[in-house]
Amino acid sequence: MSTDQKIALVTGATRGIGLETVRQLAQANIVTLLAGRDATRTKAAADSLKAEGLTVEPIVLDVTRPDSIEHAVAEVQSRFGKLDILVNNAGIMVEDPSKPPSQQSLKAWRETFDTNLFAVVEVTNAFLPLLRKAPAARIVNVSSQLGSFGLHVDPASAIYNFKIPAYNASKSALNAWTIHLAYELRDTPIKVNAIHPGYVKTEMNGGHGEIDIPTGAKSSVGMALIDADGPTGSFTYLGKTLPW
Ligand code: NAP
Repeated sequence: MSTDQKIALVTGATRGIGLETVRQLAQANIVTLLAGRDATRTKAAADSLKAEGLTVEPIVLDVTRPDSIEHAVAEVQSRFGKLDILVNNAGIMVEDPSKPPSQQSLKAWRETFDTNLFAVVEVTNAFLPLLRKAPAARIVNVSSQLGSFGLHVDPASAIYNFKIPAYNASKSALNAWTIHLAYELRDTPIKVNAIHPGYVKTEMNGGHGEIDIPTGAKSSVGMALIDADGPTGSFTYLGKTLPW
């Protein structure tokens, strides 16, 4: 493999936006690692894209398990020695949307933050040495407009009535992490950005949504492929800036 061949890794890629992000990155001639927590489903998902003629490899990664993160980093290190693109896509929504904010369980809060925030911090920090070895790495954090304070306080916004507190706060915190890491890496070629994929018809929404999955992957793919003039520390949807 040529040393300038780009390598990408997408977490939570067994279905939905993650699976489609892998497809679109591989279609852009990037060797893409499809990461999932279950080995059988991860291999099956990668095989389905390989059958389309794409260069996709499965990699087992449960983002909430430190041993799994350690194994995945060691595998990428030994096989490729660098990572050009990390898409932190894995995410969960486990609250009961019929309940008001004060009635959500602390268990749901903890589970949500474990996957949507702490796992992103741990996975990113673990891969950072390999990202630094790439010439100009890109980190994409799959956030949500539901993490936007600006939209939540605006009665005219489309999300004003979507007060799912743990999920929403986990994405607000993910946005904050994005800003902090972008600041740390401001004098390096690495860019760190948060995106909202859109309201996408995936399992997370029980198939409801405004846009299809291929369109839902475009914000992640777009930010994964930005050139040196692109932003860092931004929060966008299809290239349009969103309020924090
Ligand atoms: P989805 O269909 O529910 O897919 C979520 C993926 O995350 C699955 O592949 C799941 O794997 C994986 N995952 C969950 N926990 C994991 C863990 N501990 N380790 C590894 N993988 C894990 O959801 P989606 O709609 O595609 O969402 C993708 C991202 O977009 C999420 O971060 C979500 O918050 C964000 N988002 C979605 C929407 C939307 O409208 N759909 C809007 C805004 C933001 P398993 O198959 O193993 O469960």
